[in-house]
Formats: sequence, structure tokens, C-alpha cells
Amino acid sequence: MRRYEDKHIPVMPREVIEHLIWKKDGVYVDCTVGEGGHTLLMASVSPNIFVIGLDIDSEVLAIAEKNLSGFSNVKLFKSSYVDLPVVLKALNIEKVSGILIDLGISTYQLKAEGRGFTFNRDEPLDMRMNLEQKKTAYDVVNFYSEKELADIIFKYGEERFSRRIARSIVNSRPINSTFELVEAIRKALPPQEIRKRKRHFATKTFQAIRIEVNGELNNIENFLNNVPDLLEIGGRLAAISFHSLEDRLVKHFIKNSNKLRQIVGPIIPSKEEIDENPRARSAKLRIAERI
Ligand code: SAM
Repeated sequence: MRRYEDKHIPVMPREVIEHLIWKKDGVYVDCTVGEGGHTLLMASVSPNIFVIGLDIDSEVLAIAEKNLSGFSNVKLFKSSYVDLPVVLKALNIEKVSGILIDLGISTYQLKAEGRGFTFNRDEPLDMRMNLEQKKTAYDVVNFYSEKELADIIFKYGEERFSRRIARSIVNSRPINSTFELVEAIRKALPPQEIRKRKRHFATKTFQAIRIEVNGELNNIENFLNNVPDLLEIGGRLAAISFHSLEDRLVKHFIKNSNKLRQIVGPIIPSKEEIDENPRARSAKLRIAERI
């Protein structure tokens, strides 16, 4: 087990339960169980609710297994949410009453030693959510072309210094650790830009590389395409996103679907929640109903 002494606090827990659980004897899916925070709340609404939980990260799922061991109405699977139709088929379930997806990264992934997601500690460049996957952040940082890196950092990081950062990364190769990557980013940015930024200057580039390593935006699109046919009429989708790229995908998908209708949102966390859980700061929750 890796060293990990923190706990993930579920985002907008009251709002998620209030809008997602419309039927007290339905089957619900938590597509991103993490440490099981939302799953536990969903399963606690009623013993007549059945919750299917998925996560692609076997380590975080092991924590969820422990946290949820007292619940006989929860079943967890190590699976990508992209494969939700396969999981439901194996369980002989055709339609569900609600689906939750809580995008982004779990506290475990950020804080447990050696996962390589954070610029706050010097670690090998990993950033994989699925530890069985071959491609790591090391591969992206060391083997992608300068143009590919610049495009990724621009598109997924919304970083306006993407070209300079890509050039600096290529010139600094081989880059073996998170701190070496931070240094390559630092060298690319004008000092006044570094001073000006409210968030750490490496935030956007790290986000971009993480999205690329895990194919996150493709996954979200593939997942969304499956949702309408998996929900019963009146069934709900609750989607929590943490940056504009994710939220845009969710918003447009719902808007362009003739099977879904947004009924609430975007809801943002209250000031009290952000004070208590700063990670919730950029979260947006949208609720859609199957029509
Ligand atoms: N809702 C959880 C809670 O309250 O404890 C936190 C979820 S956390 C923000 C996001 C989780 O999504 C991470 O544990 C991550 O491993 C998982 N994840 C990322 N990509 C995934 C995928 N393609 N399929 C399933 N889970 C995925």
C-alpha cells in the first residue's frame, strides 16, 4: 500500500442526492467511485436502492471497498465508465434510474505517494488512472513531438504559452520526474507571468498532460453517447465537472440530445462548501432527465 493519510470529500453531496435519487427503489450507477463518498450517500438513502460503482483505479477502489463494506446494496467493479454498457449487460440490467459521473482527480491520486499527478512533490512521471495502462506521462513528455505537445498543452491546458513550454520540454529531455517537468515549464514562462498567476504556473500543463495520458475527453464523449439508452424514462444523469472543457462537453451533449433534457444546473458549490473543501472550488453540477 502507498502512504496516504488524507480523505476525499465528496463534492456537492446534498445537491447530488437531492436531484439524482428520484426513485427510492431504483438501480443507480456511480461511474467514478473514488473513495466511495458519493456511493455511500446514494446507498444510504434506502436499503431498496442498488448502487453499481465503477472506478478504473484499482488502488482507490480498494479504499472504497473498505469504506463501503457495511453496504449489501452496493457492488463495485474495476471498469472504465466507457464500458458501462458491458457491465450492465453482464448484470442483466437493461436500464437504470440514475447515473453519476464525478470527473477529475481523486484526493488519493493527488496525495498518495508516487502517482506522479502533483507538482508539489518530486515523483516519477506517471499520471495514469488505470495502472494497467502502458502509456504514462513519461512517454508523453519524452516522446511526443514538439508540435503534438504544444497542441495538447494549448487545447487541454488552455495555456497561452503552450508553444514556448513545448519547446522548453523538448530542449530539457530526458525529463524523468515531476520536478524536472516543473523546471522545464518555469524556464519557458516570463518571470512576470509566473508572479502574476493566481494558481501554480505548472497547473495548466500538468492538467493537459494528465488529460492526454488518460484520454479523458474522448472517454467523456464515449460515455455520454451511451447514457441516453441506459436510462429509463425519467432517469437522471448527474455530471460534476472541474474545468471548462469537461463542462462544455456535458452541456453541449445534453443540449443536442433529443433524449435528454437539462432540469437543473449548472449548480456551483456554496461558499461554505468551498471554505471546507477548496477542491470543490471549480466544480459544476448539471442534472439531466431522460425524456
Ligand atoms: N465521487 C468520488 C468520491 O466522492 O469519493 C470521487 C471521484 S474522483 C473525483 C474521480 C474518480 O474517477 C477517480 O477515482 C478516478 O480513478 C476515476 N476515473 C477516472 N477515469 C475513469 C474512467 N475512465 N472510468 C472509471 N473511473 C474513472
